[in-house]
Amino acid sequence: MAWKDKKGQYPVNDVTVTVGYSAEHPAIDMGSTAGTGNGNQILYAVYDGTVNYIEDGWGNTYPSNKVYGNQVILDCGDGDFARYAHNLTGSLFVKQGDKVKMGAALARMGNSGYSQGNHVHFELMEQGLSRSNRIDPRDYLYAKEHQTVNLKSTGLSRIRYQAKERDPEKHQVEVIVTGIRLRAAPSLDGVIVGGVVPGIYDIFDIRDVDGYIWVKVRQDEWFATREGEWTHDLPPERHPEPDYKAALEQIFEIAKTALKT
Ligand SMILES: [Zn+2]
Repeated sequence: MAWKDKKGQYPVNDVTVTVGYSAEHPAIDMGSTAGTGNGNQILYAVYDGTVNYIEDGWGNTYPSNKVYGNQVILDCGDGDFARYAHNLTGSLFVKQGDKVKMGAALARMGNSGYSQGNHVHFELMEQGLSRSNRIDPRDYLYAKEHQTVNLKSTGLSRIRYQAKERDPEKHQVEVIVTGIRLRAAPSLDGVIVGGVVPGIYDIFDIRDVDGYIWVKVRQDEWFATREGEWTHDLPPERHPEPDYKAALEQIFEIAKTALKT
């Protein structure tokens, strides 16, 4: 199973991407979230795996020695690997050969090696443990329910969110198309804070703005139906008060239509 099918989690619970992925930096850096005091927050296994390699005992080597510092490399099977670098000295919870489950604590974020402040330099590799096999973690990992994403993160629109399971007791919406943007407010002017992965989401609020139905799926996270695919035009007399059930039925009708066309 490749990274795209594993649906792994992010390596930290307070996700603040400070440096994105590029040809010069085929990794993402995640820093401590400002103001939360999590400068040494725990680094978690992004998927089930075996600890392939560890290094500990490095101090800070900036700017003279360009090394990863204290690191953990996790073998997640099928040629997939994850590297966590610049960890806090003496903070490793695992040793080489340990088998861990997704979400297991591996080490703490630190400032060892070639680093200018507490952060994790995180690399995802596929088809073998090689620096030339590095891929953008934002395309493969998911921010799970218990993980928060700082809206100031670099490349925020690429960060994926884990969708929920169907729960008949709750108001939910199923997203069946890709390319829907997640915004901080229910308006086309709302700041884009991510992309919506197809799946099922709990609905906390519904608003009718700019000719679209907007659904709130998390704090400061809204999405509308994509222009040209989903539109909303409920006659006013049919919903003088917010009518969540009718609005939901409308969304599902529109979604069905979008699938057929
Ligand atoms: Zn880095």
